[in-house]
Amino acid sequence: MVTDLHVVPARCGRAVRLAKGQAIQIINTHGQQVVDTWCFNADDMSEFMSMEHLHATLQGIFPAKGDGLTTNRRRPILILEEDSSPGRHDTVIAACDVHRYAALGCTQYHDNCTDNLKTALGQINLRAAACPAPLNLWMNIPVGPDGKITWGEPLCKPGDHVTLRAVFDCIVVMSTCPQDMIPINGAACTPTEVHYRLLT
Ligand SMILES: [Zn+2]
Repeated sequence: MVTDLHVVPARCGRAVRLAKGQAIQIINTHGQQVVDTWCFNADDMSEFMSMEHLHATLQGIFPAKGDGLTTNRRRPILILEEDSSPGRHDTVIAACDVHRYAALGCTQYHDNCTDNLKTALGQINLRAAACPAPLNLWMNIPVGPDGKITWGEPLCKPGDHVTLRAVFDCIVVMSTCPQDMIPINGAACTPTEVHYRLLT
């Protein structure tokens, strides 16, 4: 069964409960938006999808279709079941926060993914002890042979989507990254909304 299409507005976060076996399809509506994505055990917020642990599981840094996305207890919480995009998603960069924007020269409050996580969880009366490193869907961070990274633009096209299926009851949180000071959300540096739907 496919449910209605929902929106994550530009620069905002949303938290969604998934039952075991249920899936979420996240759609890059305009094709250039990075979506910071987290996942927590619905019964124990201290267990969460962990990029550091995922690297050990994958023996790499780029998850691909069919991969299990590992928690800090080294078991899959989500399966990357489908990916219509070129499959370039970042797992090495921390969520943006007020400190990141201050370092870029911003002198006033700037929307950020760390606060979006906190707000989105708060809307369903949950709280995380910290902000885990997110799975940055569509964030294109090429890594050179010398280990240096560059800030690329997303490689996907409008309407590309990923499907994440819950291995057990969990909470998925998405943030449409508000980064508008470097071109990780495309050359226009204009964050946009994305959409999602639930699949059973
Ligand atoms: Zn961000």
